[in-house]
Amino acid sequence: MSGASVKVAVRVRPFNSRETSKESKCIIQMQGNSTSIINPKNPKEAPKSFSFDYSYWSHTSPEDPCFASQNRVYNDIGKEMLLHAFEGYNVCIFAYGQTGAGKSYTMMGKQEESQAGIIPQLCEELFEKINDNCNEEMSYSVEVSYMEIYCERGNLRVREHPLLGPYVEDLSKLAVTSYTDIADLMDAGNKARTVAATNMNETSSRSHAVFTIVSKISLVDLAGSERADSTGAKGTRLKEGANINKSLTTLGKVISALAEVSKKKKKTDFIPYRDSVLTWLLRENLGGNSRTAMVAALSPADINYDETLSTLRYADRAK
Ligand code: ADP
Repeated sequence: MSGASVKVAVRVRPFNSRETSKESKCIIQMQGNSTSIINPKNPKEAPKSFSFDYSYWSHTSPEDPCFASQNRVYNDIGKEMLLHAFEGYNVCIFAYGQTGAGKSYTMMGKQEESQAGIIPQLCEELFEKINDNCNEEMSYSVEVSYMEIYCERGNLRVREHPLLGPYVEDLSKLAVTSYTDIADLMDAGNKARTVAATNMNETSSRSHAVFTIVSKISLVDLAGSERADSTGAKGTRLKEGANINKSLTTLGKVISALAEVSKKKKKTDFIPYRDSVLTWLLRENLGGNSRTAMVAALSPADINYDETLSTLRYADRAK
């Protein structure tokens, strides 16, 4: 298998209160690995079907056999990526989707223990593994960094080292010795993250959060993928939207290009890493000696049909 292989999962969340109050209908169906979406504007149209590595259903109760708990998502995706990191690969897990579709829930989860997302579970297992493997001949050091990419600009300068590749000037890397250290750092980072209200959602994330461990494992909570026209954004917000779209579009192009290279087993295709700050920084985690996983977060509701279909298409192109 070539380094460009990408694991793709989609995950539908339960209805939120806004959708419930509007008596929205569920337009997503999942069976095995496949996900289909019904067009609420034309219910006679055949549902559009897609197949992914995993299709995660969380719309019904936890007793439902198709229900994907935080543990299941971690066991399928996080665990495997952590193993690859110990094998020496650069790994990258990112969550894509419309604001409010469940990206942060998947990556971070909720404080309550049974709802911890991929990042806390992965960090916890990372230290377990280190403690299990540590002995007189083998020692590990773990450094983490957290950065926000807002409006296609890192809050720090992005530079390129001739041998080591892209790096962020002055990005503090902190040595950590336990999961608690990481959790404290992440709390501080998340609090500082730029959030602003949009017409779509009261607290919408307008930035990509890139959390890197040991410069090998990058865990990325992307900014919302909603298109500017559906949020009614103007002025600064519209410009933000354009920048977010640029990095997400470039990320999509990079991943599709890598998937093509992997299928054709060619090495020479042009990969447009340089077209966005996000892809440039993640370059080493996406191509070459790397393993990537993406979770695309979906709303179940008819009122979000256009955004959800566009998320499914984005995920489909990444395969
Ligand atoms: P995003 O990061 O994409 O903007 P969030 O992760 O904040 O969205 O999710 C929006 C809301 O939906 C949150 O209150 C979150 O707890 C809830 N939620 C998202 N996904 C799930 C899920 N799979 N199961 C239960 N609740 C979820």
